[in-house]
Amino acid sequence: MRDVRCDKCGKPAVTTFRTYRISLCEACYPRFYEALVRRSIKRHCILRENERVLIAVSGGKDSVALAHVLKKINDFNWSLEMLHINLGTGEYSDRAEKVVKELSEMIEMPLLTVNLADFGFTIKDARMRKRCAACGTAKRYIMNRTARMHGFDVVVTGHTSDDIAAFALKNIVGGNISWILKFKPRAESFAESVVTKARPLFERTEEENRLYVSAENLPLLEDRCPFAPHRDDWKDIVREIERRKTGFTQNFVRGIAKLASEASSEETIGERGVCGVCSVCGEVSSSDVCAFCKLRARIVRDAGGKMWRRMMP
Ligand code: AMP
Ligand code: ZN
Repeated sequence: MRDVRCDKCGKPAVTTFRTYRISLCEACYPRFYEALVRRSIKRHCILRENERVLIAVSGGKDSVALAHVLKKINDFNWSLEMLHINLGTGEYSDRAEKVVKELSEMIEMPLLTVNLADFGFTIKDARMRKRCAACGTAKRYIMNRTARMHGFDVVVTGHTSDDIAAFALKNIVGGNISWILKFKPRAESFAESVVTKARPLFERTEEENRLYVSAENLPLLEDRCPFAPHRDDWKDIVREIERRKTGFTQNFVRGIAKLASEASSEETIGERGVCGVCSVCGEVSSSDVCAFCKLRARIVRDAGGKMWRRMMP
């Protein structure tokens, strides 16, 4: 950025927050970012004092930023630990695990690593076109199970305003508003075996997280998942609207959160109150067998008995 000066100290600026009409240098930017995250957490009651918080870290910019920022703003007396899930996608997963280990040592935060392979399959075993969905199911399951088994109060993820806005737009266009009405920056546990989930970066953009990671010199997994689609049209659309209407993304996700909290105080809460347990693994499930156990059974069946079943870890 040529000739633009930091509004705090007058040094050359590295970024301009159009939403806040402020330009910042590399030294002042991280403090501003941290203040924004702290404000989101307080304003939306995303995390409470003294909670045991499990941070799901993939090695990508968003969750790396999340682990670091929570450590930096922790005058809430949270007990913070990281969880990394090795999904067994080969070299990419090994590099991801290495990055997260490096981060854990650098910021002195304990790390739990769970291998999907220990549950009897990996993402590579899933059919090519089903891999993203399989990955989502496996991650959600392992996050909840690990958090509960280790006694955490809440699991946090690095979902950003871009992620949430893109997902919401896609669902609105597809006529599925049920997810949107359930979206909250903090989704309280609705059953004993379900751990509370929270998204402290729901008002931050990927670009803000990337700048934070770079300004703080944090280890980062640069490459993309080999199975991820090359383009995300919905995210491109969100960015294009943001380019033309500054503040759209943030206002949109705030609007969704507000809608959701009004809707849940009216009636939708009951929907989630009805839940049973999976007859295979005992985790919470709305049907007889949970999504994860169905996935595993499908993969084992597709492999034609070549894979041998392993016990749950
Ligand atoms: P994604 O589903 O890849 O968009 O990731 C969303 C969030 O899920 C990330 O910001 C992380 O907090 C978490 N996450 C994704 N992959 C992993 C992983 N392999 N291990 C732990 N957490 C993950
Ligand atoms: Zn199950």
